[in-house]
Amino acid sequence: LRGVIALDGPSGTGKSTVARRLASTLRAGYLDTGAMYRAVTLAVLRAGGDATEIARTARVEMGTDPADPAVSLDGADVAAEIRGPEVTLAVSEVSAVAEVRRILVDQQRAIIASVLAEKGGIVVEGRDIGTTVAPDAELKVYLTASADARAQRRSRQDLAAGRTATVEETLADVQRRDDYDSSRAVSPLRQAEDAVELDTTDLDLPGVLASLLDIVDS
Ligand code: C5P
Repeated sequence: LRGVIALDGPSGTGKSTVARRLASTLRAGYLDTGAMYRAVTLAVLRAGGDATEIARTARVEMGTDPADPAVSLDGADVAAEIRGPEVTLAVSEVSAVAEVRRILVDQQRAIIASVLAEKGGIVVEGRDIGTTVAPDAELKVYLTASADARAQRRSRQDLAAGRTATVEETLADVQRRDDYDSSRAVSPLRQAEDAVELDTTDLDLPGVLASLLDIVDS
């Protein structure tokens, strides 16, 4: 792969898992931009205070190897903690702050540039990659799935990570976050005009990966 593949879409579409697999298959780098918003949110929850100031000073470091996508905050591994319920509840609010987005989008572009220089290709996942972070991406894919399918997937991930929530609670959380992410003023969740849409409702992981590889090859 040469260049950027932008993978956007709401939560629970299987985006993260499939983005990592795709990057491994293509021997490309990988960037999870949601993890960056989550890490800044964790910093805000810990320290309290102004989100912009915290985004400016927090040291968020991202691993770009799809086999080991490490996330650290001020030198400490926070990969597990940023997936917990406290961060998940607060992340959409923090990521709606225009200045926070500006700071993180700058960091994301710098990471993308350095991975492109090193490896030639990168799969970047998020909500605004095709519209804002990398509008010139070689390929843009927008993943969708029914709300039920997304809640089921999230629940399975939660259970696997030892967190318990009912599917109803998870569905409510997924919908709340999507509403928030789609209606914010700055770079709302939206399909880029030149993105290919892929509905993953009835596909398992190998199915989504095969469809993506077809799109990459076409
Ligand atoms: O992808 P993930 O579910 O981890 O993202 C967590 C949250 O971070 C999203 O619900 C959204 O509020 C925010 N986000 C964003 N822009 C991105 C990636 C994530 O606003 N590019």
